[in-house]
Amino acid sequence: MPPRLAPPARRRGRLAATLLAALATLPVLATELSVLRAPRVLLDPAEGRVMPATLVVADGRLRAVLPGLEAEVPLGEGERIAEERRFDAEHTLLPGLIDSHVHLAFDPAPPFWAEAVVTPERATALGARNALRTVQAGFTTVRDLGAPGQAGFALRDAIAAGELPGPRVLSAGRMVSIIGGHGDLTGFRPEVMEALDEGNTCTGAAQCAEVVRRLSRAGADVIKFAATGGVLSQQNRGLDQHFTDEEMKAIVDTAHQLGLKVAAHAHGPRGIEAAARAGVDSIEHGTYVDEAGIRAMRGSGSFLVPTLSPTIAYRENLPKGLYTPVVAAKIRVRLEATGRNIAAARRAGLKIAYGTDTGVSEHGRNAEEMPLMVQYGGMSPQEVLVSATRTAAELLGLEDEVGRLAPGFSADVIAVRGDPLTDLGALQRDRVAFVMARGRVVRE
Ligand SMILES: [Zn+2]
Repeated sequence: MPPRLAPPARRRGRLAATLLAALATLPVLATELSVLRAPRVLLDPAEGRVMPATLVVADGRLRAVLPGLEAEVPLGEGERIAEERRFDAEHTLLPGLIDSHVHLAFDPAPPFWAEAVVTPERATALGARNALRTVQAGFTTVRDLGAPGQAGFALRDAIAAGELPGPRVLSAGRMVSIIGGHGDLTGFRPEVMEALDEGNTCTGAAQCAEVVRRLSRAGADVIKFAATGGVLSQQNRGLDQHFTDEEMKAIVDTAHQLGLKVAAHAHGPRGIEAAARAGVDSIEHGTYVDEAGIRAMRGSGSFLVPTLSPTIAYRENLPKGLYTPVVAAKIRVRLEATGRNIAAARRAGLKIAYGTDTGVSEHGRNAEEMPLMVQYGGMSPQEVLVSATRTAAELLGLEDEVGRLAPGFSADVIAVRGDPLTDLGALQRDRVAFVMARGRVVRE
């Protein structure tokens, strides 16, 4: 006999009556509002105007942004103010910061054999700790551009469900790579590498399209591929173009057909140019970009994500002998070019989205990129702040959700001690006094 799909009508009626009776005993659900009052609020870093304001938060969103410190908060039926906070003139409130390039599931300078030892499950646990450090440092949105297995998706989903504290995460999952390239496991016996293969490499346009579709099916928010060699992998095939032009085009076109943006890891000039010609949405690193690369980026409208922070870790860890000889040699070459990418992008008027490659450097220190962008790239503090809010939001496709404080936007609000428009020191972790992420206070 086939299973009965619905209960008999009589039983259904009884069930409905019981449910109604249960509902009648519940109190009317009140919407609880949070109110933040501050004499110094920077609603939009691009406008650069600090003013007194009252922020009203309901259901994780900014319900209202009212001018003045003492603005009256209108309450609807069944609504009440659950908490009210006042900040003094020492603090500035501003939108939560965005980091367009992190690796939550990695810590800096692991031994070379860690890749063959650390399981994706272990990496996920590490990522949970790092997500907390990140959000408490004032970064309320990140884009995770490479994690083992399902670690990136698991972290994203657990945080979104409120099971773990952390920033909003857009996850690429595994980075797509050529066989033996920056995103593949390298430096081991062939049979070890075969055994640990995660299916993220491809050869030829058809295979590359397939890998992108598999990532899409697994839940990727964005596609990341290694257009060139990379610094920290054991591969010894240089820092320039790795995928062919046709393979890059297949990756980008397939992702775009599926509504996914594409981030290209690219250091060498020909790899940058080829990735931009293929139509990538962002060039990550862009270390040795030249005039042809800049022209191609202008043509494709690709953003630059400069990632200067690894140099902090390289300078700290190189003398300690933490890198293998093949990696140390690449780091020395890499350090000489710091900041060239930003200078070239600014001259050409390209969009620069804040991104640190944290994971290569220490989690929670994401804001240490800011003074480097001034020092090496010649940006003003306000330009840096815009890159970490409005511009990064645009790159992530979240410009109607994050990056400024406006009605309907996500309630991602931080308070820092000082004036971030003139002093980027105010955004460093020790001066972040308060963090609200999607309406929940995660630091105070
Ligand atoms: Zn990276």
